Amino acid sequence: MKLLLRKSVPLRNIDRSQSHPIILFGGALCYTELPLLKVLADVILHGDIESMLVQLDRVLRPAVRSELLQSFIDLPFTTVPLYGKKYQVVSQCHDLDFFVPACPLVPERGEFAHKLLVEIERGCIHRCAYCMMGKLKKPARFLSLQKFPEILQRHDSVGLIASNVTDYPWLDELVDVLEESGISVSVSSLRMDRLDEKFLRFLRKHQNSFTVALESASERLRNILKKDLTDAQVERAFKLARKANFEEVKVYFMFGFEEESEQDLMAIGDVARYLLELGFKTVKFSINPFIPKRGTEFEKRTMQDEKILRQKMKIISSSLPARVKVDFESLRHSRVQFFINRMDEDLAEKLLLKAQQSESPERVINNAVRTV
Ligand code: SF4
Repeated sequence: MKLLLRKSVPLRNIDRSQSHPIILFGGALCYTELPLLKVLADVILHGDIESMLVQLDRVLRPAVRSELLQSFIDLPFTTVPLYGKKYQVVSQCHDLDFFVPACPLVPERGEFAHKLLVEIERGCIHRCAYCMMGKLKKPARFLSLQKFPEILQRHDSVGLIASNVTDYPWLDELVDVLEESGISVSVSSLRMDRLDEKFLRFLRKHQNSFTVALESASERLRNILKKDLTDAQVERAFKLARKANFEEVKVYFMFGFEEESEQDLMAIGDVARYLLELGFKTVKFSINPFIPKRGTEFEKRTMQDEKILRQKMKIISSSLPARVKVDFESLRHSRVQFFINRMDEDLAEKLLLKAQQSESPERVINNAVRTV
C-alpha cells in the first residue's frame, strides 16, 4: 500500500483510471481467495507462475488499461475484480525440470545471502493442519537429480529450497553430487522424522546451526496439529545432530491453540533442558503465536486474545533455562496478519479508502486491528 501511495496510484482498483498502471498480484497469497486483494488488485494470478508464462506473454502487449484488463479475463487462472471475473483454475507447474531459471536471482541479504536458490521441491507431502503449503500445493513436485550438474556448473554456493529437504526422494545421491562439486550449501529448516547420519554429517560441513520446526513440545498437541512426529523421532533427531557435531540448535515452536494446557507450554522448557544436557552450546527458540490461515484445516479457528497469549508467553518464559535465547514473534504483527486474513470485502473497501486519505496506511490498519 505504501508503494502504491508513493507512486500516486489509488489503493482501490475502482478508483484507478486509464492513466494508472495495472496492479497484478501473484504468489503465496493467491492460492486462496483473499477479499482484500479483490479491492486492491486489478488482476490476481492464482497459482504457479511458470505454467502461466505462455498465456501471459500473449496478453502482455502495449495497450490501454481497459483493453489489457479485458484480455486478462480470458485467462482461466485470473481474477479480474472490476469485471466480476473469477478464476476457474489454480495454475499448476507439473514439472519443475522445465522451469529451472536461466538467470536466477541471488539474494544479497538473509540466510541465503549470495547463494543461488535451487527449488528442489514445491508443495509438501505432509498434512499439518495449520499449514497452507501442505493443503494448497499438492501434489509435491521435485526437481530431478539430472538437473543438478548443469545448475551447479555456474555457481559455487547454493541454497536448497524445499518444504522439507529431507523429503527429496534422491537425497542420498544429491549429497554425493554436492560433495563432489565442492560447492557450499545451505538448507532451510528440517523435518525431524527423516534425518540420517550421512546427510547431517554433510550438512555440518556447511552449516553451524541445526534448525528444525518442532511446533509443539507435546506429542499430544502435535497429533492435534497433524504434525505426525513422535517424541521418539524428536529425541533421535536431536541425538543425531549432536553426533554430527552440531553445537548450535534452533527450534521453532507455535503456541496459542485452544487445546493447549499449561503443561504443554511448560514442556518447551523440558526440550531446552534436554538440548543442553545433550551438549548443545547454543540453544535458540523462535516461538510464534498460531495464526489461522485461509485454505488450511484450521482456517475456521480464531486467534486467541492478546491477554491470553501474553499469559501463555509468561508461562513459556518461566519454564526456560536462562541460557536459552528466545525470540517471541510480535503479537501485534501476528494480529495484523490474522486481521488481513479475516477481513471481508466491505471492510477492505472502507479501510483502503481511509488509508488512501491518511498519511500512514499502516496506522489505519493498526487502529482497525485494535478495535477488532
Ligand atoms: S508445516 Fe511443513 S511439513 Fe507440515 S505441511 Fe507445512 S510444509 Fe509440510
